[in-house]
Formats: sequence, structure tokens, C-alpha cells
Amino acid sequence: MKILRLILGDQLNQQHSWYNDPIEDVIYFMAEMRQETDYTTHHIQKVVAFFESMRNFASWLKSEGHTVIYYKLDTSENTQDIIENINNLAEQHKITHFEYQLPDEYRLDKQLKDFKEKSKTLKISAIDTEHFLTSRTDIENFYEGKKQYTMEYFYRDMRKKYDIMMTTPKDPEGGKWNFDHSNRNKYKGEHPIPPPLVFENDVKQTIKEIENAGVKTIGFINADQFDWPTTREQSLNVLNYFCEHLLVHFGDYQDALYTEHAFLFHSRLSFAMNSKMLSPKEVIDSVIAHWRANSETIEITQVEGFVRQILGWREYMRGMYWMKMPEYASLNKLENTNKLPDFYWTANTKMNCLHHAIKQSLDYAYAHHIQRLMVTGNFALLAQIHPDEVDQWYLGIYIDAIEWVEITNTRGMSQFADGGIIATKPYVSSGSYINKMSNYCGSCHYNVKLKTEENACPFNSLYWNFLDDKREHFKGNNRMAMMMNLLNKKTAEDISALKERAALIIENPDDF
Ligand code: FAD
Ligand code: SF4
Repeated sequence: MKILRLILGDQLNQQHSWYNDPIEDVIYFMAEMRQETDYTTHHIQKVVAFFESMRNFASWLKSEGHTVIYYKLDTSENTQDIIENINNLAEQHKITHFEYQLPDEYRLDKQLKDFKEKSKTLKISAIDTEHFLTSRTDIENFYEGKKQYTMEYFYRDMRKKYDIMMTTPKDPEGGKWNFDHSNRNKYKGEHPIPPPLVFENDVKQTIKEIENAGVKTIGFINADQFDWPTTREQSLNVLNYFCEHLLVHFGDYQDALYTEHAFLFHSRLSFAMNSKMLSPKEVIDSVIAHWRANSETIEITQVEGFVRQILGWREYMRGMYWMKMPEYASLNKLENTNKLPDFYWTANTKMNCLHHAIKQSLDYAYAHHIQRLMVTGNFALLAQIHPDEVDQWYLGIYIDAIEWVEITNTRGMSQFADGGIIATKPYVSSGSYINKMSNYCGSCHYNVKLKTEENACPFNSLYWNFLDDKREHFKGNNRMAMMMNLLNKKTAEDISALKERAALIIENPDDF
């Protein structure tokens, strides 16, 4: 028996049980492929981060005594197609068994499943990635028979199931399940923000290879100082840095937006986790252990806010993805059809909030949650952009963007294109929310208090126009009732002026 085992770019889990198996007769295979670089236009830092991390993982495997075949983009045997590569290797090395870890993307899952069904020569089996805290189908079972997929109940169940921050099997530590209301402070410079932990990985050669291959990318990269962790050791360093320097204010400023700081107190752990260099359980355990050792200085609100994101939202999004794909990828319940403005690719806009969030995304392949949700996502929804366009942008631009977590957040939580499966109401706001949570508006070309004047904040007219345009969709939605009542109180003249200005913005967004 000779076994070929495939490791995908987001399966860099050193703790996987595979690596405890006897090493004879097993060949591990990893490949950089055009089918992966070209399914959307990725940020250059994202491609570099994946390739560097894959190469480091292959080196680690070799150092452990395993046999590894690694194809770079320019390896002559690399056909750039996963199935062709596997078939060729199987023939060349007289492989009898092919094994893979279950992919997290529907696209790859289907490709490998089809291969499994069709292959006549190989015995093929799939195994769990041993990364997540739930299986693909746990969520579906959890919500069976329920009308709504409220994340909070799933999160509570996970807390109980894994005995995380519980005083008894039923009672949450601190007397409350959720401290969300304490997570909404505006940052005013009151606490110094430690600089992000960055590394001096030399990525010049990798960048050259990507360029030579003609891979189309977006965004910028500093070849002398690559910011993202590309090994397990570096990932653990980012985790420890978060615990020691950032956790203390994480919850307080989770929703804050600030011009001078791209990362605020956020962990920057999503790439390390989504590539599986770190497991969600070890991240949660480390954070809780650090808090317990420092409970005099770190409040529970900081910790619960963080645990909820990983134990709750991250697992929830993955479960929803597997429950709702592939139909989910084409949902457009609000029937939005507009084109994404060009400024999403350049940051050239006079709207300061969008300029900052997009410029930062192009510079660092990173924006934190509220920038993604309430700035870029909010504008895209208010401007009624087609969710396909919005998805492609989010799937390409962020270091952590893998479809299972990108599409559920974008099409679902942010664009309400699923009609309320993930979010019970659309995350839209006028300029006042952005002004409340940020220092963006103070130095903006537009006036956040104005609605229809030439220098009025575009979010204001777009907001009321959106509610008016989508009246039919929100008819039975109780959570929208207050906003719809406010809309109904506006005079016909007010609505007409707001719609006139909104139309101007929607027709020519790049002029604003
Ligand atoms: P922190 O703020 O430090 O949070 C800690 C961790 O919690 C994150 O690393 C992440 O693993 C997890 N987390 C937080 N919020 C979410 C969430 N809503 N869903 C799932 N996990 C969450 N996250 C991705 O990992 N990949 C994506 O492609 C992605 N696309 C998004 C698109 C939109 C429109 C929105 C609104 C959110 C998206 N998110 C995505 C969720 C979230 O914005 C990022 O996980 C987070 O900004 C990553 O930065 P961080 O590691 O500093 O997170
Ligand atoms: Fe954004 Fe409006 Fe504030 Fe300008 S005024 S930063 S456009 S919310």
C-alpha cells in the first residue's frame, strides 16, 4: 500500500493526527496552483502569506521525517490543477490510496468529492481537519425545528458543551452570557495602543515568483517587512502578544473606529486560525488562562467579547455555510443590481470613513469587523450593489478571506442578501453611527449633520432612500418597525429631496 496525502493551503495544522502515523509508504503533497490564485483577484499579501506558510509547513513536515512533494507555481510538473496533479503523481509513484482532509470550501469539496466518485484506480478517503469545535452538520442539528438561527443560543450551548467560562454546568461566569453592551466604546486616545507585532520574513523571492507567473493581484506589500505570521511559532507569538498587550482593552474598543490606528486592540489572529496554524480551542484557552492569571487588571467583559467571536460567530458561520451552500452563494433577496464603485479598488473617495477603511485594506489586507460591516459593507448595501460584486471584493482583499467565513459574513450578515437567515435586520446606518464610533467625520469633506445639501454626508440620504426603496422587503420585519415608522413620519418633500440626492450618489458614486 502506498498512500498519497493532500494538504491544502488552509490545512496547516501541525497537531493533526495524520502526523503521528507511521511515516513509511506515505507521501504528503502540497501545491501552489493557479486554480487557487485565480478563482478571484486576491490581495498580494494574501497570496504571499499562504505560499510562505505552506512552504514553512512543508519544511516542518520534512524536519519531522515525512516525505513531502511540494510544487511551487513554477515547478515544471505542476499542471496547476489539483486533480491532474494527483493523477500524475499517483501514476509516477505507484500510489494505491489517496487521502485528503475535508476542505472548508464548497468549491474544493465538490472537486475532490467528484474525483472520489469517479476515480477507478485509487482508493480514496477523506478525514476531518481536526480544527473546528463543531462538525459540518452540528449547526443544522442544533437548529432543527427552530424558526430562527439566532447565534446567541448556539453560543450559549457551546459554552456549556465545552465548559468555557461557566460557574456551574448551567450558569455563565459573571452572571451574564453576553457583555456586548460593554463593547461599544468610542476610542478617544485615552489608552496608548501598542504597535502590532510584525515580523521580518524575507518574502522578496516569493513576490518575484508570483509576479513572474503573471498572477493578477490587488493591494500593496512591503517586501522588507512582511507583517503576517507564516509559521506556527510566529502565530503563537501573535497570540501571546494579544494576551499580554491587547486583551486588556479588546472588548471596550471592539467596535471603535480610528483614523490613526488600523488594528486598535484587535488580535490579528484570523489568518493564523483560518490557515489552521492555530486552533480555535488553543486560542480561547490561552486567552482565558491569561485572564485568570491577571484577573485583577483584565475584566471579564474584555474576555467574553473575544471568546464569543471565536466560539460563537466563527463556528456559527462555518455551520451556516455548510447548511446553506451552494444555494447561499447566489442569494440576492433585496434584488440589488448596482456595480461596485471604482473607489473600492483605489480608496479615491472624499468620504473619509470609506477612504480610511479601503486604504487600510489595500495597505495591510486588513480591516477590523466594524470597518467591514459598518463602513464598506454599509455603503455597499445602501448603494444597492449586487452582492456578487461585494462578495468578490471581500473574498479578494482580506488576508483571512476564505469563502466559508467570507460569504456568510458578507452576503449574510453585511448585505442581508439571504433575507435574514444570519442577521435579523440589515446592518445599515446613516452617518450618525459612524460619527458616534469614530473620529472619521471630524476631518471629512462632508458634514455628517446634513442630509440633502451639496456637502451633506452621503450615508444620510442613502440610508432613507434604502429604507424607502426596500419597504416591501421589510414589511413583516419587527426589528425594522421603528426605522420604518420614522421614515413614514417624513414629509413627501423631505423624502423626495433625500431620494434626489441618493440617486445622484448611486449614479455617480466615484464623484463623491
Ligand atoms: P478580532 O477582532 O481580534 O476577533 C478575534 C477572532 O474572532 C477573529 O480572528 C476571527 O477568527 C473571529 N471572528 C470575529 N468576528 C467574526 C465573524 N463575524 N465571523 C467569523 N469569525 C469572527 N473573517 C474572516 O476570518 N474571514 C473573512 O473573510 C471575513 N470576512 C468578513 C466580511 C465582512 C463583510 C464582515 C462584516 C466580517 C468578516 N469577517 C471575516 C469577520 C471579522 O471581520 C474578521 O474575522 C476580523 O476582522 C479579523 O480580524 P482579527 O483577527 O483582528 O479579529
Ligand atoms: Fe463618512 Fe459621512 Fe462621516 Fe464623512 S461625514 S466620514 S462620509 S460618515
